Amino acid sequence: MSFDEKMLSGVVRQVLETLMRENGAAPSPATCVYDSVDEAVDNAIIAQRQLIAMTLEDRERMIAAMRQTALDYNEMLSEMAVKETKLGRYEDKIRENILCATKTPGTEDIQPLAKTGDNGLMLLEYAPVGVIGALTPITNPTGTFIHNGISMLAAGNAVVFNPHPSARQTSTKLVELLHQAIVEAGGPPSIIATIRNPTLETAGQIIEHPRINMLVATGGKPVVKAVLSSGKKAIGAGAGNPPALVDETAHIRHAAECIINGASINNNIFCTCEKEVIVVDEVADSLIKFMQETGKAYLLTPEETEKVTRLVVNDKGKINIAFIGRNVQVILKEIGVTVDEACRVAIFDAPQDHPLVWLEQMMPVLPIVRVPDVQAGIRLGVEVEQGNRHTAIMHSTNVDHLTAFARAVQTTIFVKNGPAYAGIGLGGEGHTAFTIAGPTGEGLTSARSFTRQRRCTLVEGFRII
Ligand code: NAD
Repeated sequence: MSFDEKMLSGVVRQVLETLMRENGAAPSPATCVYDSVDEAVDNAIIAQRQLIAMTLEDRERMIAAMRQTALDYNEMLSEMAVKETKLGRYEDKIRENILCATKTPGTEDIQPLAKTGDNGLMLLEYAPVGVIGALTPITNPTGTFIHNGISMLAAGNAVVFNPHPSARQTSTKLVELLHQAIVEAGGPPSIIATIRNPTLETAGQIIEHPRINMLVATGGKPVVKAVLSSGKKAIGAGAGNPPALVDETAHIRHAAECIINGASINNNIFCTCEKEVIVVDEVADSLIKFMQETGKAYLLTPEETEKVTRLVVNDKGKINIAFIGRNVQVILKEIGVTVDEACRVAIFDAPQDHPLVWLEQMMPVLPIVRVPDVQAGIRLGVEVEQGNRHTAIMHSTNVDHLTAFARAVQTTIFVKNGPAYAGIGLGGEGHTAFTIAGPTGEGLTSARSFTRQRRCTLVEGFRII
């Protein structure tokens, strides 16, 4: 075995830390929070080498510890996330974290594939990529870390996170907790590492770093573009503007309930949330009435709609970030409207060219556009999705209509007759992901997304038939 200097210093450091801990001199295992990108990467490289020398059973033990930690500290982390970012709702963060802790696949996702035939055996294995640089959004500082952490480790990688600066405290706390869980389960320190003061500059250093093998960006268009221009293998999970289309054959009350629940979860900050409703005219009034009957939707008058629009869309035609992820009560108070605590979302009749139909608002203010028929609805749905290939939702009992919209819109997630969040496994089948890679095509990422394929071919023989 050959040791280079950095690896040797890492081993020495670990031995010293273990001795110090045993003597009560160090309260926690070796750090996972680094001042510099270089330091984080150096330690992540050592950790990854140690990880791949361990068994899959070891890896599963670490993952079980991460899942348990995310659940044990759920309340604290959810509270921190809402307080620090001022986005979303505590009770929905709780659901997000449970979802990520329990429905992110582990090592079962990297099962190898074997093929035998006249010419022998082919074995395909999903190998680690090495060290991953992950850039994460302000909207999900807990879910993204739980999901990315479990998936990347399950695939045998180390990860260096550059959290969104405005979610730094929550992200750092969660990384420390996951790190501690991994170390206590016998895993290597720094397999999950983070930058103490993340900035755009440190993001750039991660993107450029010669020893980072893969980049994963979860965020808006600029960060996705930045990683895709890096010359490295990169996964881009970008913005969406999911339309919810309702046709005349839908179960309208059910559609109304699903849309209100889907659009209001976490105050609309999930990238998958319904961002606008497109409804066939003949059922539009019933849809709105049933939405109001949920007790969770407030119908804005035309004057209130104008006031809210001026409030949340600025002069440059961009979303006013002060209202992203805020409770509907906070937004409506600004225009002098008071609604009770049960209210979760404001809805309004909107023309097709209303800015909130086209912008990713990420707040509980939901435009409803009427169209003459389902064909017009499909055309508009495709346009407002804007080629993000993210998420679309349709409520219909007509299979031809459902198929036509799914084919036309080409999104990564297409939800039929349910809230959008069913598409990420919340009350829907399938695993969850908080890095949904439309632009680069991995879809709802999981351990396998963070691997590279390796093939071993044995010519002739080794068959048992
Ligand atoms: P953001 O793009 O502003 O930030 C994401 C991360 O990228 C942050 O860590 C930020 O510091 C970094 N960053 C931003 N611009 C960068 C650049 N030019 N170079 C390097 N790093 C850069 O996104 P946000 O506001 O934190 O999150 C909301 C956005 O993320 C929404 O558009 C939402 O749809 C999207 N999102 C997508 C997914 C998905 O899975 N597809 C999941 C969550 C959020």
